[in-house]
Order: sequence, then C-alpha cells, then structure tokens
Amino acid sequence: MPSMLDAVVVGAGPNGLTAAAELARRGFSVAVFEAKGTVGGGARTEELTLPGFRHDPCAAAHPLGIGSPAFQNLPLGRYGLEWLQSELPMAHPFLDGTAAVLSRSVAETAASFGPHDAGAYRRLVAPFVGKWDTLVRDFMSLPLTALPRDPVTLARFGLAGLPPASWLLRQRFRDDRARTLFTGLVAHVIAPLGGLATSAVGLVFALAAHEKGWPVARGGSQAISDALAAYLKDLGAAVHTDFEIKRLDDLPPARAYVFDTSPTALARIAGLGGFYDHYRYGASVFKIDYALDGPVPWTADAPRRATTVQVGADSREVGEALRIASRTDHAPDAPFLITVQPSLVDPSRAPEGKHVFWAYGHVPNGWDGDLTDAIERQLERFAPGFRDRVLARATAGPPELAARNANYIGGDIACGAASGLQLLLRPKLSLHPYRTPHPAIFLCSSATPPGPGVHGMSGHNAAKAVWRRLRAS
Ligand SMILES: Cc1cc2nc3c(=O)[nH]c(=O)nc-3n(C[C@H](O)[C@H](O)[C@H](O)COP(=O)(O)OP(=O)(O)OC[C@H]3O[C@@H](n4cnc5c(N)ncnc54)[C@H](O)[C@@H]3O)c2cc1C
Repeated sequence: MPSMLDAVVVGAGPNGLTAAAELARRGFSVAVFEAKGTVGGGARTEELTLPGFRHDPCAAAHPLGIGSPAFQNLPLGRYGLEWLQSELPMAHPFLDGTAAVLSRSVAETAASFGPHDAGAYRRLVAPFVGKWDTLVRDFMSLPLTALPRDPVTLARFGLAGLPPASWLLRQRFRDDRARTLFTGLVAHVIAPLGGLATSAVGLVFALAAHEKGWPVARGGSQAISDALAAYLKDLGAAVHTDFEIKRLDDLPPARAYVFDTSPTALARIAGLGGFYDHYRYGASVFKIDYALDGPVPWTADAPRRATTVQVGADSREVGEALRIASRTDHAPDAPFLITVQPSLVDPSRAPEGKHVFWAYGHVPNGWDGDLTDAIERQLERFAPGFRDRVLARATAGPPELAARNANYIGGDIACGAASGLQLLLRPKLSLHPYRTPHPAIFLCSSATPPGPGVHGMSGHNAAKAVWRRLRAS
C-alpha cells in the first residue's frame, strides 16, 4: 500500500464498492474497509436456514441494478454477474384469484388493469417507454452531477413524477387494480403516498419492468458484490473485511475519505458534530427468509411466473399498512408484503425441487415484536397451504437488521426516511449532497441521491465529486 492513498472507502456495500471501482479505474490508489466478514452490505447471500438453501438476507430483486448506468459502465459480467429473468417481472395477486402484473409488455400490463384503466396506463408511460437509458441516467444523476442528455424527457418525467402518488392514482385510474399495484410500487421505498415525487417512484419501477425486467442475480445478490470486489482487486485496490472503522485515525492516510455509511455514523467517526442531526430515519421491515419444500402455492397463475410478488388485498389495505408502519408505534395486522422467489429461475439457490423465498412487511422504526404470524396469515390468503411448504425460516426484525448492518438505523433499510424533501434531497438540501463540511470527506451511501436500492449510483455520483477534488488538488 502506498504511504498516502488517493482514497479510502469505508463500507463495502454496492455504493462503496462502486465508488471505489470508479476511482480505481481512473488510476487512483484505493483501499476499502468493511466492518463485516464479507463484502456486499445489502447485496449479500448466505445459507440462513438449511444447508444448500442460499438466501439473500437483504436485496434480491434488481430492477434498478440491471438498469443502472453505473453497473452498465463496469465489466461486471466478466466477473461472473449474470441476470436471470422470470417470464413476468412482477405480479400482484388479488383475493378473487386474478392478478395485476408488470410485464415486459406495456400492453399486457395495461390489460391486467382492466378495461377502464388500460388506456390510462398506456398514456401514463408512453412518453418514457424506449427512453430508459437516458432518462434513468439523467434522473439518477440529479442534482447537478451531469448535464441531462435528454432535458425534455427529464422535464416531462418531472411533471408526471412530482405530484404525490395518491393524487396521480385518483386522477388517472378508475378501478382498484392499477391503484393497488402502483401503491405497492411506492411502498418499495417505504414512502407515504401523499409525499411529493412519490409518483416518480412508482413510475421508475414500472418503467424498469418494461425496459429491463426485474431480475435476480444468478447465485444470489452476493454475485453483484463479488463481481465489484473482484474487479476492484484486478485494478489493484485492497479490500479489507472484518475492519470496523470507529474513528478517522483507524484509517490509513489518504487524500480523500468516502463513507458508505449513515450520515449519523459519518458525523460521529469524522467528528462533524451536529451537521446531520436533522436527518430522519424511517420505518423498518420484518423480514422472513424461508426454505420451502416446493414453490409457493399461489392461487393466481401470474405470481407463479414472477420472481417478485406484491401481497396486499387492495389499495386501501396497502396504503393503510404503510401508514401504520410509518406513522404509529405498532405493526399492521394485515401487512403489505414484498416477496421474492429467486429459485423460480435459479435452481442453484436450493436443493432439487426445493425453493428459497423471502417476504417482508413494514413495521415502525425500532419495533421489537414478531410479525411472523401476520405475514403468514397474509400469505395464506393468496397462497393457501403456504405454511405446509415451510421447512425452515429465519426471521429478522428491526433490532436484528440493525445488528446486521450499521447503516440500518432502527432497522430502516433505506438508510433514511424516503419522505418529504428527503426522498429526493438527501442527506441535506444541497446541490452537492456527496460533500461534507470537511473538504476531504465524502458520503456515498443510499442516504445520498438517488437513494435506496442496489444500483451503485450514489457511489458513482460521489466518486465524481471525489475525483474532481483529487484532480484539482
Ligand atoms: C431486507 C432488505 C431487502 C431489500 N430488498 C432490496 C431489493 O430487493 N432490491 C434493491 O435494489 N434493494 C433492496 N434493498 C435495499 C438495498 O439493499 C440498499 O439500498 C443498498 O444495499 C444500499 O447500498 P449502500 O452501499 O448504500 O449501503 P449498504 O448496502 O448498507 O452497505 C454499507 C456497508 O457499510 C458497512 N459499514 C457501515 N459502517 C461501517 C463502519 N463504521 N466501518 C466499516 N464498514 C461499515 C456495512 O457493514 C455495509 O457492508 C433491501 C434492503 C433490505 C435490508
């Protein structure tokens, strides 16, 4: 290791690894320090239940990963990353045995919303279909990290996406099928539906399905992190695991320090005082990883063909579950569930004929109850006989999630509430969210734009701020 490194990255989540890779491929000397025994943060894979069952303790579905401009710029395929797609990207079953879907085809998606809303959906997404690569790059590079490539489409997207999702759903749709599916999409970032720009959240997920699909990574999400780490090592960067950073002095001398941590931890480690005291953390989840004796026995056909399945009876139930988790101190009786069934398309994840499956429901930050029964009651409504297929389960509520990853404060898996202005402008109202009051210290975690998800774009954007400074000094 040189005596003075160009950059040190704290935390080997997708954003930390991406920031390190972006710097190393530009010739800067880089070292990464990760508290846990393996790299990956929220993109890891482990045998959590029984031998041969490979679970993703955190992220499993990657609509934002496959469509990420940051990942597309890196040779991750050469380092073993392979995306696997199910026939349908996502399905949302109803109690009558039918389902709304997000299909690669806009027409099939629209048809699943019923005759009244099919046209409205087509009109909503039409201006953006076929423009994902420029739109997502422009949107995910806000604020001010790159000049928009297609400012007209970005402005149009801003107009469509800026209103609260609750307003968009009332204006656009007459029936509950589209409303329910779309409400669920917004819930992926645990954003209250009445919040500014929540329409954009739903639109991004829907467009991702049409343009790129919602794949899983072959072998599990660890494959994303391992590909990033292997590329980094080939570039000559060092990656240290089992190395928790508590103070800046724990790190070797460097010209820049890049933190893939919560703003709160960064302020504590780097002595930034109360700089991020205003930053709010949001609701958490209760997550269950299942080893199953067979596929989930969904009543509807569509969820049997989709790796991601949303579970919630109607838009009222989904919205209410989100409201209870975000605004009260108790858990919903009928939680809205996001579920992923990776072994539908990846037999390497479980012994022959068996399956891995994960489900989580939203709960308040810091909640320490057990949501297992409520989650399984909810699953049984849409997949009767589910419980009979369970061979083993591993549960994790807010305290366990927080222990797994220091970035999940109170179990907040988004590393900061995605509500109010904080949905878009995080961690501060600033044109330079990756910078801190210390000129050599930067933040690159999902507490910065574009926010939560395994896409590496916060790391990519932060790296730009870092190399501009390194080149200027
Ligand atoms: C249950 C769950 C399900 C999810 N599902 C999805 C999904 O399906 N799709 C999706 O796109 N996203 C999903 N996410 C969100 C996604 O995992 C995160 O948004 C993403 O991992 C954020 O990346 P990051 O690099 O900012 O931080 P993280 O992935 O959280 O990584 C931060 C890393 O920094 C390390 N670290 C923290 N402090 C220190 C320190 N002081 N010293 C050294 N190391 C430190 C941590 O150990 C961790 O490895 C899910 C998250 C959870 C928890």
